[in-house]
Parts: sequence; structure tokens; C-alpha cells
Amino acid sequence: MRVEFAEVKRAANGNWRNILTSLGVPAESLINRHGPCPGCGGTDRFRFDDKSGDGTYICSQSDKVSGDGFTLLSHVFGWSVAESLKQVSAQLGGFEVREARPMPAPIAKPKRDRLSGEWQEYWDALGPIAGIGRDYLESRLCALPPRDGDLRYDPAARHPSGHVGGCLVALITDILTQAPISLHRTWINADGTKPAVDKPRLLLGDSHRKSGGVVRLWPDDAVCWSLGLGEGVETALSLAHCFKPVWAAIDAGNLSQFPLLPYVESLTIAADYDPAGEKAAQACADRWLDDGRNVQIFKSARESQDANDFILEAH
Ligand SMILES: [Zn+2]
Repeated sequence: MRVEFAEVKRAANGNWRNILTSLGVPAESLINRHGPCPGCGGTDRFRFDDKSGDGTYICSQSDKVSGDGFTLLSHVFGWSVAESLKQVSAQLGGFEVREARPMPAPIAKPKRDRLSGEWQEYWDALGPIAGIGRDYLESRLCALPPRDGDLRYDPAARHPSGHVGGCLVALITDILTQAPISLHRTWINADGTKPAVDKPRLLLGDSHRKSGGVVRLWPDDAVCWSLGLGEGVETALSLAHCFKPVWAAIDAGNLSQFPLLPYVESLTIAADYDPAGEKAAQACADRWLDDGRNVQIFKSARESQDANDFILEAH
């Protein structure tokens, strides 16, 4: 078995707290506050700041040491880098880590690489998630996607009903060709509530399609051998608290038809609780399982709650 460091590092990103505690590092030391070092003791020399999700730490013993999750394991257990790498890859689902397979070039050449009309310029001009948009997502206990993910915020969007308010804007791209195909918008009032308009969530009409599309909440570069998938943007971002990277399939139809991606070995699906959601998740899972991939379905334990609500409960 060949273990690629870069691949394990990518897969471990954002999951270090789980990985480290599973390997025996005390959870109480893995906080961003000074305390005793799990490696060399003391009382307040250690801090786990997990910068960029890389499991980073600082230990101010006589010689200050710092580094990422791999070197933290070396500091705590005295492991070599190779041993840390082996242990971490074993924690990541227990399946074989294969040679890195980066995102291949688009499978089919996109028929068009821009949204039609003025929508591409609109998307290009949008800023990252901020202000009310960020507050809204945080109030829903969603993880915030990275700045290079396909979710942005428009503080002054106009709804066809005339309502003006902030709106989260998600770019929908073709799952396979990566071509932009539509936008999905979620309106939010200034107080973080949903506006009283018919259809507070809207897709572009006209010539834009959504079938075969996905919201790449994390960019392709972040997707290596594992991917999390939910129907809605918020469900996917809730899943992202325990599993990254994630994409949103938009609806049950897209989820059930979600194609096999050649570079993804492990798929984690956050299923909506409703019958259509569960059926779609199962249809997708069956196809991926039939091809020998790893699949897990994350379901709400409670009636009438989607995974988003469930994770809200869990927090
Ligand atoms: Zn130390």
C-alpha cells in the first residue's frame, strides 16, 4: 500500500480533532486556549489553534515547537513522520489510501462556460459570504465554506416580487463538465429571517437548467478521494461540521442521479428525512456501492427534521 502524504493531509484537513482524539490525544487539550501540553506537560505551555484545519499547535517548552497535526503526533507519541502518516491514514475510514488521483480535466468539453446574459457578470461581481449572510448560516449552525467555494452573498438582491433583501447565491455547475449552468438564491431578511415572499429560494429561469448540476461548496481542488453530499446548501454545510469537503445536489432528482466520479472513493450522503430525500439518497448510494465505492448515509433520527435540523439538535 502506498500512502501519499499530500493526499492524507488533504483528507485529514478539518478532521484533526477527531483524528487526534481517536489516536489517544486527550480531547481537553485540543482547544484554542493555553493549557498543559499533551506531549511534554507543564501547565499552560500548549495551545491547539488548528489553523486552516491543519491540526496546528504551539508548545512553548524551553524550545518553542509548533507544527501541524502530523508533527503534533510526533510531539505527543514520539512517532516518526512515516508512523504518524500511517496512523492518520488508518483513521480516515480504515480504507486503503491509494496513490493521489487529482481532479481530472473535465470529462466532456462544456457547451458553454458562462452563465447566459448578465448573470455571469452578476456572479463575478459578488463578494464572499459576509454580514447577514454569514450570521444566517451561523445561526443555522452551518459550517462556512471556503472563499473559493461556489457560495456568495448579495446584500441587496431584488426578488421578482419586489422584495429587496440579502440573498445567498450559489453557483450551480455541471457535475461532470464543471460548466456554470445556473444560480440558486436564498433570500434572507436583515434580521436573519426568511422574507414573506412566495418562493424565498429561486433558481434562474429561462435557458438555465439545474439537472445534472451541483453546488461546489468546496472547490474541486479540495475533493480528492472523499466527498460529502446533501440536497440543500444548508444541509450540506451542516454535514461539513463533521465531514468535508461537501457539495449540494440542489434537489432529490439530482441526488438520486448523482454520477460516479472517477476520483472519489468514499461518498457520505446527508439524507433529507422526507421519503423523496431518503429514496434519492438510497438510489445514489446503491449505484456507488455497486461500483465498489464506500458509501455512508447520514440520516436524521427524528421525524420531520432534515440533517440540518438534526445537527442543530446535536449541537
Ligand atoms: Zn509540548
